[in-house]
Amino acid sequence: MAATNGSIFAAMLEEFDVAARILNLEPGIWQILTHPKRQIIVSCPVQMDNGEIEVFTGYRVQYNITLGPAKGGIRYHPGVTLDEVTALAAWMTWKCAVAHIPFGGGKGGIVCDPTKMSQRELEALTRRYVAEIVDAIGPEKDVPAPDVNTNEQIMAWIMDTYSMHVGHTTTSVVTGKPVELGGSLGRREATGRGVMIAAREAAKHFGIALKDTRIAVQGFGNVGGVSAHLLAQQGARIVAVTDWKGGVYNEKGFDVPALMEYTRQHKTVAGFAGGQPLPAGDFWGLEVDVLIPAALENQITIENAPAIKARIVIEGANGPTTPEANDQLHNRGIFVVPDILANSSGVTTSYFEWVQDRYGYFWTEQEVNQRLEAKMCEAFDAVLKTSLKYKVDMRTAAYIVAISRVATVTRMRGMYA
Ligand code: NAD
Repeated sequence: MAATNGSIFAAMLEEFDVAARILNLEPGIWQILTHPKRQIIVSCPVQMDNGEIEVFTGYRVQYNITLGPAKGGIRYHPGVTLDEVTALAAWMTWKCAVAHIPFGGGKGGIVCDPTKMSQRELEALTRRYVAEIVDAIGPEKDVPAPDVNTNEQIMAWIMDTYSMHVGHTTTSVVTGKPVELGGSLGRREATGRGVMIAAREAAKHFGIALKDTRIAVQGFGNVGGVSAHLLAQQGARIVAVTDWKGGVYNEKGFDVPALMEYTRQHKTVAGFAGGQPLPAGDFWGLEVDVLIPAALENQITIENAPAIKARIVIEGANGPTTPEANDQLHNRGIFVVPDILANSSGVTTSYFEWVQDRYGYFWTEQEVNQRLEAKMCEAFDAVLKTSLKYKVDMRTAAYIVAISRVATVTRMRGMYA
């Protein structure tokens, strides 16, 4: 997402304002929804392997908890700032509202470089961070999850530390856990599955069957790889894939399982024999029906957007399109399914994990996928109807859906003073 005067939060507010104006949102609710409810800053001292003590700064922001407990990941990165964490917590608020799940939005982060830390140091840092915020989190307060540089193991440490503090095992304090520890089947594939559903529904809107589509995917990790695999299973032709090291092209469509196996072995799609090399500059202008950016933020820019020939863009990644590029695509009639809708299946399945943990009864993978299909179709349908009703693009429509849901409940709950 592009920053405004360097502030990611200001960029979020710009998107918010467009939808809030269309909704004619009253000033009081506008004020509430543009302020974070709670921002926590903690100092986490850790004894490093060399015996020295280092103090790490950690954040947890609960942006809005009107619809339910705060929900959102924790990232470990040297560039983490309070501004960034607050913006991400706000986006989680809108994403959960679009997905129509009973969660508010939260996010956390620790300023650290996990690539330079041992497992023991990472565990010590994680446990100290949880101890510092332990009163603020909990199954009914705030439920963290993985994000950049955090994983199942770190979620297991969070769950264990919280459980030690409250005196009993509490799996539902965090999602994205190992399946053996209360994680949900289907969580790992959930975001890619939702991207596949979004692509299928968008194609349907244009009267195109998936088997007649040619698709290009940027990024072949969790989101890009799984969505390419599932789309190919539905008969779509995945003709181009790129990752950090290079790209490949196959006019007839890849054998995606073979490409996945190659990537597992070589850590890149580059050099895959089942296609020809694709120069990085050729990717955006390919003759395809659907483009799926599933790598990083700010990939579709005002420089490459005019080259795009696809009719449909599905934002698997968070913030892959700059605001200027978004306007450019919209003005050319290109249908962009925004991140807060397209990749919302990740958090929807986190919600399923939380439900199963609280229930103490676990669903089969098939049950998880069926429920996910229903939630994703419901969300897509609500945003599409809103876009047609207000004659706005899908991004603005997603904000309208999210803001009206949070605003309605805010009005119903009234003001506690
Ligand atoms: P990942 O690390 O598994 O995969 C990222 C992929 O992008 C890799 O294939 C990598 O090689 C590729 N990549 C990196 N730099 C690139 C570049 N310059 N050009 C082309 N490809 C490049 O990550 P992921 O979990 O698949 O996440 C991808 C995006 O989706 C991120 O924006 C993430 O925030 C978002 N997202 C992920 C989930 C989830 O459940 N995993 C949920 C919601 C949103």
